Amino acid sequence: MAGVYIHIPFCKKKCHYCDFYKTLDTGMAGRYINALEKEMVLQKDYLENNEVKTVYLGGGTPSVLTAVQIREILEKLNDVFVVSENAEITMEVNPDDISRIYARDLKKAGINRISLGIQSWDDRILEFLNRRHSAAMAKEALQDITASGIDNISADMIYGIPGMTLRQWKEDIQQTLDMDIKHLSAYHLTIEKDTVFGKMKMAGELKEIKEEESEKQFNVLTDTCRKKGFIQYEISNFCRDGYFSVHNTNYWRQEPYLGLGPSAHSYNGDSRQWNIANLQAYLKSLDQDKIPGTVEILSLKDKYNEYIMTSLRTMWGINFDLVEEKINKESRDYLNNLATRFVKYGMMTKKGNQLMLTDQGKMISDNIISELMMT
Ligand code: SF4
Repeated sequence: MAGVYIHIPFCKKKCHYCDFYKTLDTGMAGRYINALEKEMVLQKDYLENNEVKTVYLGGGTPSVLTAVQIREILEKLNDVFVVSENAEITMEVNPDDISRIYARDLKKAGINRISLGIQSWDDRILEFLNRRHSAAMAKEALQDITASGIDNISADMIYGIPGMTLRQWKEDIQQTLDMDIKHLSAYHLTIEKDTVFGKMKMAGELKEIKEEESEKQFNVLTDTCRKKGFIQYEISNFCRDGYFSVHNTNYWRQEPYLGLGPSAHSYNGDSRQWNIANLQAYLKSLDQDKIPGTVEILSLKDKYNEYIMTSLRTMWGINFDLVEEKINKESRDYLNNLATRFVKYGMMTKKGNQLMLTDQGKMISDNIISELMMT
């Protein structure tokens, strides 16, 4: 199975923590869609006729586009690729873009899963993050999406925010899980260099929260989700049974995917490629019928590291047979040797052919992953 990611690089306002590629130039949307459609045609052989089981419109803010524009993009995608009839088609939306009519029209356009950027239920935190919505808007958006008949809703939340208390985070999570959602992605805030928060940190005006506090917030997250019946199927992703994100799972299982739009990444098992993260350069390249990307052929070591990095964060963990099949026997032995001490100290567990992180191991997942990688 294969996946398609479509980057919509427009935002109406920039959040202080965000380092995704985006532009405020929403007036370019019409021209951008033409270029995107051209890129689809130029890349039509990339997935080698594999059936597309998941389409993900991310950004930026896909909900700055009209439902008619979303429909046009999906129709073109269906013309060019073999999109499965029951494909998961997700769109990221900002709460303040949603109305009852817009949600209904998105469903008619083919969207069957929505990822809603709630981030927090506290208006002061939302303001601090420079989000453009309020908690009341997020609540209303959830009602409008549910009324549209799209029942597969994922919520995005952020923790580890300077100034946020453990109690606030607990309330945030509980409130989200009390809503009619099927999936939750909760990420710890990271302060990236080229963001407003990054500059504040450099100027000494903002400090990351202590590691100890991060751990407590992570524990509250996993405990609350467990109590509410949500399965933690990846370090930062939780869902009700049967609502695993096909798109995420596709990435973690090393299935091929095509990324369209500026800054989008693609992967086909042998190589990885990424488009230029600049809208003007992207448009110019497509005007000349050129794919605006850079290709990197993956070595066996790259493939091994890639697999360890992605699969170990999931509840399914690493499959030894797959390591041998997709990479080689030496890699399997290498991994087996290195993993022994983590299993011994209760950080990892082995079940048959699978190697997984324990709850204790999840707390230091980044360290374990880097220890298992080949240098
Ligand atoms: S977080 Fe989303 S809405 Fe905010 S600037 Fe980044 S891409 Fe835009």
